[in-house]
Amino acid sequence: MGNRYTKWKRLVAQKGGDLMPTCQSCGKKWTWRQTVNQLLVLSYGMTCPYCGDEQYENDSAIAKRIFLLFLSLLLLRVAEKLNLPGTILLIMIVSLLLIIVITYPMILKLSNDEEHSIAVARPWYLREKWVYAMCVIVPPIGFIHVLLNQSRWQRDQTFMYLGIAVIMAIFWVLNFSA
Ligand SMILES: [Zn+2]
Repeated sequence: MGNRYTKWKRLVAQKGGDLMPTCQSCGKKWTWRQTVNQLLVLSYGMTCPYCGDEQYENDSAIAKRIFLLFLSLLLLRVAEKLNLPGTILLIMIVSLLLIIVITYPMILKLSNDEEHSIAVARPWYLREKWVYAMCVIVPPIGFIHVLLNQSRWQRDQTFMYLGIAVIMAIFWVLNFSA
C-alpha cells in the first residue's frame, strides 16, 4: 500500500511539474513555490528566478483565471439557491479560493512581452475587456460573437470565453426562476 502511495505521489509531482510555467526567455520551468511567490507580488510582470527577465501572464491564462472565478461564483449561487447553511457556504468559499491558488501555477502560461498580454493591436470589439463585458451582460450575444470570431484568439482562450458566457446564462436563468 505504502509503495503504491509513493508511486502515486511521484506521478502527481511529475505531472504537476510538467504543467508548471516555462520562462520564455531562458526556457527553465518554474516550480510551484516559485510561481506562487511571483503571484503573491502584486505587480503586473513576474521576474524569472533563473534569468531575472520579466515575464507576463498570457491571454489564455488570464481567461482561465477569470473563468475559474466565474465558475466559483456560479457554484456559490447554486449553493445559495439550495439554501445551504452559512457555514457550508463559508467552507465552500475558502476551499474554492484554495483550489484556485493551488491549481493556478499549472494553468499559468508565460509570455515574453507585455504587448502580447494586452493585445493592443486588436479592434475594440475583440479586446478582452469588451468580450468579457459582452459575455457577462448579454451572454447569448457574447457567445455568438466569440463563435464568429474564434479564429482571432488562442483556442483555449476562446473556450474560456464561451464557458463564461454559458455560466452567465445559467446565472440569469437561476435569477429569474422561482
Ligand atoms: Zn528565465
